[in-house]
Formats: sequence, structure tokens, C-alpha cells
Amino acid sequence: MAAKGKVLIVGAGIAGLSTAWNLKRRGYDVEIFDRGPIPNPISSSWDEHRITRHAYGEFEGYAHLMPYAFKMWDRLWKDLGATHYEPTGATYFIHEETPWYHGTSTALTEMGVRYRDIPLAKAEHRFPMFNLETVTRVVETDGAGMLFPYRIVRGLVNFLGAHGVTFHALHQVSAIDAEKGSLTANGKTFTGDYVVVAAGAWADKLVPELRQDAMPSRQAVIFLAPPPELTDAWREAGVMADLGDETSCYVLPPRRGMRLKIGDHVFTRRGDADEDRRATDEDVARLMRVLPKVLRNYEGYQILERKACFYTVTEDEHFIQKPLGPKGWLISACSGHGFKLGALTGELAAQAITGERPAAEITEIAAGRQRIAA
Ligand SMILES: Cc1cc2nc3c(=O)[nH]c(=O)nc-3n(C[C@H](O)[C@H](O)[C@H](O)COP(=O)(O)OP(=O)(O)OC[C@H]3O[C@@H](n4cnc5c(N)ncnc54)[C@H](O)[C@@H]3O)c2cc1C
Repeated sequence: MAAKGKVLIVGAGIAGLSTAWNLKRRGYDVEIFDRGPIPNPISSSWDEHRITRHAYGEFEGYAHLMPYAFKMWDRLWKDLGATHYEPTGATYFIHEETPWYHGTSTALTEMGVRYRDIPLAKAEHRFPMFNLETVTRVVETDGAGMLFPYRIVRGLVNFLGAHGVTFHALHQVSAIDAEKGSLTANGKTFTGDYVVVAAGAWADKLVPELRQDAMPSRQAVIFLAPPPELTDAWREAGVMADLGDETSCYVLPPRRGMRLKIGDHVFTRRGDADEDRRATDEDVARLMRVLPKVLRNYEGYQILERKACFYTVTEDEHFIQKPLGPKGWLISACSGHGFKLGALTGELAAQAITGERPAAEITEIAAGRQRIAA
């Protein structure tokens, strides 16, 4: 069967790979370009684990995207022949009254996702690793867990290669032509029918107008080995987030051979994705202040790695998907919550590129401002 057209994709992170997967399923030829190896270890998509959840606080629009995102992941597991998701539930530790609770409970009730308060005395027993001194409410939700990016991204690369997608690793794209659907990489012009920029925290280098809305943000994470006496408690724990102003952080427990990770969710809104990635004392300063407040027996933990990574953030954390011209599409701004939507992100981009859904509608859906009509 003749291909329906050729799409050139800049970026082999989850957004680019998922777009390729969804276009290939529709009969398109796809070529993917990445400035680094594929997968690129300094991309945002390359890590041990990522949180997925339905709870989205005030961002109810994103909560309502999650059932579609979960459906698309299920579809991907079928294609990959393996499920890279562990449903663990999520627990949120709240210190002060927060609009997060109202937004979350409204959306979860509407979607039929169960959630419950855990009385503090019970929480003390269930979460012996957590310091609950200033916690006023503990909420547990279903419909949440961990995705495993190393396995997902590698699985997608293998699957796409086996289905005829062309990879151009170590090809730095220096320009795109959204009038023609072509691009220039390593000084050579590649011609297609459509070009997609899914270049993560580097996207503004190719699409300077993006700087008005989104900026790269250098973020820190720390990997830890828990003390032996807490090994069992950590093994049974799900994903967690502390929602305190002073202590906010997110926690991924050690599961399926991955390490315990605690990440800073306060955006720095500074840096350049081309910078040195070695985490400095300044990068981890806030996390180092937070850890002893959040973890009981913090002295018993061993630090295994400090890491600096990048993602793009917009003022209100919304995602960007939009046309760049008649033959160009931009996917950007992940604000630290883009992986969970990854499988759906590519489906939405494919719907826009093929004209199955109006581009303007995809822009609104991706920004969490419009629900997907069933
Ligand atoms: C520390 C951290 C924790 C996170 N935690 C979560 C979480 O728990 N849950 C969640 O859902 N999300 C989370 N995220 C966000 C999520 O990982 C990202 O939203 C997602 O991986 C972004 O994927 P992407 O494909 O857009 O970008 P990337 O994965 O960065 O991929 C972009 C690719 O484009 C390539 N590229 C860039 N410029 C060019 C060019 N000019 N030419 C060729 N190639 C180019 C890069 O080499 C790179 O491989 C987290 C992110 C970080 C950094």
C-alpha cells in the first residue's frame, strides 16, 4: 500500500516517538531526527520512572484527558507486547487548605475515580517513612502509578524500527520549513510532506516565537537508597506528593528494579538545555532542605545520585500543540507533567496532521481548555 505522505519529526523523546507511532498506524512514512543518540540520555523522556495520575487539582482540563491517556497507553502496551505501567495509587500529603483538594475531588468524582482520606493515625502507621508532623490531611487516589520511560522509549524505538520508521541519530536540525514540510539537518535538506517539532526543552532554538509562551526550566532530582529498616515500607508504597508550600516535592518509590527518587517540583524557570547537566549544590539546595523535613530518619538514607534535567514551562503550565505553518506542527511545554500524556500527545498530533480533527481544537485540548468530545 502506498504511504499517505511523509512526515519528518524533530526529536526522539516521548512526544516525537508517540507521534511517529500514531502516524505509522495511519499509513504514513515517518523519519525521526535527533541531535543525540536515539534515545538521547539527556532528553526529558529518559529516566527511571514517571508519575501518572488522574488527580490534577485546579487543572481539571488535564484530569479529563487522563482516561484517554490511559487508553492510549493500553493500546501501546498491546503493540509493544509488554506493560510498562505499575498501578500503585497515589498519596498526597497536605499541610494547609489548598484549592487542589476541591479541584481534584470534583474531577475524580465526575470521572468515577475513587479517592479517600486516610485518618492521620492510620497514615502514621502506613507511611513510617514520612514525617507527618505538619500534615493536616492525607488523601489516597486510585487511577495512578508509575510509568517506566527507559522501557517505554526503548520499546517504541524497537517497534518503530521494525515497522519501517527511519531514524537519523546524531542529526542536529538547524532549520525547518513549515511551508514545504522540509528541514535541514547536518547541513543537508530533507524533504517531506509535513514537519513536526517535538524538540523538548530545545524547541525554542528552532521556533524562537515559542519563547513568548514557554521557557526551559532546570530541575533537580535526587536518587536515594532507603535505610534497611524501611525497605518493606518503601516496597509497598505508591507514588506520593507533598503539597506543602515549603516542602513540596514528588516521590517515586523503588519498584521494578528502579531506585527511590525525590524530585523538586518548584520551577526554576532558568537555564538552557545545552548547559552542563551535572547537578550543582545550587541545583539541589532546595531539595536538600526539603528532604530532612519530609523523610523521617533522613540520616539513614544514602544519596546515590543528584541529577539536573530540563523541561519547558509555560506561565500556567499548559501544553502547546499548534500549527507552525501549512505543513508544520509544534508540540511543546511539558511543565514536568508531559510524560503521562505522552501516548495521547502523539495521537492528538496525528489527528491534527491528518485533518481528522481541526488544528484549533487540538490546540485547546492540549492546553487543557477543552474536553475531548466522546
Ligand atoms: C526531572 C523530571 C521529572 C519529570 N517527572 C514527570 C512525571 O513524574 N510525570 C510526567 O508525566 N512527566 C514528568 N516529566 C516531564 C516529562 O518527562 C516530559 O514532559 C517529557 O518527557 C517531554 O518529552 P518530549 O518528547 O517533549 O521532550 P524530550 O524527551 O526532551 O525529547 C526531545 C528530543 O528532541 C531532540 N532535539 C532537540 N532539539 C533538536 C534539534 N534541533 N535537532 C534534532 N533533535 C533535537 C533532543 O535531543 C531530545 O531527544 C518530568 C521531567 C523531568 C525532567
